[in-house]
Amino acid sequence: MHLARFPRARFAHLPTPLERLTRLGVELKVDLWVKRDDCTGLAGGGNKTRKLEFLLGEALDQGADTLVTQGAVQSNHVRQTAAAAARYGLACEVILEERTGSKAVDYTASGNVLLDRLLGAAIRNVPGGADMNAELARTADDIRARGGKPYVILGGGSNAVGALGYVDCAIELVAQANAQGLVIDRIVTATGSAGTHAGLVAGLALVGADIPVLGIGVRADRETQEANVHKLAMETAALLGHPERVTREMTVADCDYVGAGYGLIDDEVIEVLKLAARTDALILDPVYTGKAMKGLIALARAGRFEGETVVFLHTGGAQGLFGYQGEMQGALEGELA
Ligand SMILES: *Cc1c(COP(=O)(O)O)cnc(C)c1O
Repeated sequence: MHLARFPRARFAHLPTPLERLTRLGVELKVDLWVKRDDCTGLAGGGNKTRKLEFLLGEALDQGADTLVTQGAVQSNHVRQTAAAAARYGLACEVILEERTGSKAVDYTASGNVLLDRLLGAAIRNVPGGADMNAELARTADDIRARGGKPYVILGGGSNAVGALGYVDCAIELVAQANAQGLVIDRIVTATGSAGTHAGLVAGLALVGADIPVLGIGVRADRETQEANVHKLAMETAALLGHPERVTREMTVADCDYVGAGYGLIDDEVIEVLKLAARTDALILDPVYTGKAMKGLIALARAGRFEGETVVFLHTGGAQGLFGYQGEMQGALEGELA
């Protein structure tokens, strides 16, 4: 396996820090660490930045002039794609799916959407449940008809090329742990469009690190999520020449913490956001990291990580918090009353 064989644009702030969560760890009775992929640096950063280094590498190689992608209205992936496009002087056309149904002005215009606009992306909204791959194809056809050269990035940047970013993260994390003499027993991450989880699984398998990854689902049921992650981990390992290294047992997801649905906030998540902020000043988001941490906390309190050193992958998303100002403000004001 040799990542340098793949075209890559370099703009992420790497390596990201690996830090101990001293206060939250004591609270949960776990030796808890955080891998700060919320600090990848691209217009707020987050996990999509690592994927975009390899996707942009391919787009620039192909001579593309426009990036096309899709996501939910408050997509962090769309924001980071719009930022990468700006960095390379490319146009950016995005399709936002009204997946949560929220019409709140914070949700539809603030947070990531405000940043998408600031970064110059052309935005088209479609109703929840639309066929997003068909929308991507239609937008790409329109661009080609105008004489442009689109490069289509799947939702979340989750194909094998994008997942190389998390192979790189696995290598980086293992190197940091080795340098610090830190034995990692488990990695916990949010898992959605699967590229992050799949890239980690493939990367850890290829370096032979034997560190299990637990993905906490944010949308799909467990069976669907594990199948998606496993398929993409195999494709990623195949791209690197070693599909046989990834086995089905390496893919483990727990999808019991989604709550009412993708992108829907609840009181438990708000409690988690408060706890993380008020212990280690860790700013989580309501859609991904808040739910992943909700799972981590519940499992820790149930004794599932007893005696373990656990690394929580902070995949970013704090910019999306401002899309949930109404819900958050209500909870924070209620507390003072
Ligand atoms: C997209 C995203 C995830 C999920 O990563 P996938 O690779 O889509 O599974 C997790 N956290 C944040 C903040 C994200 O934006």
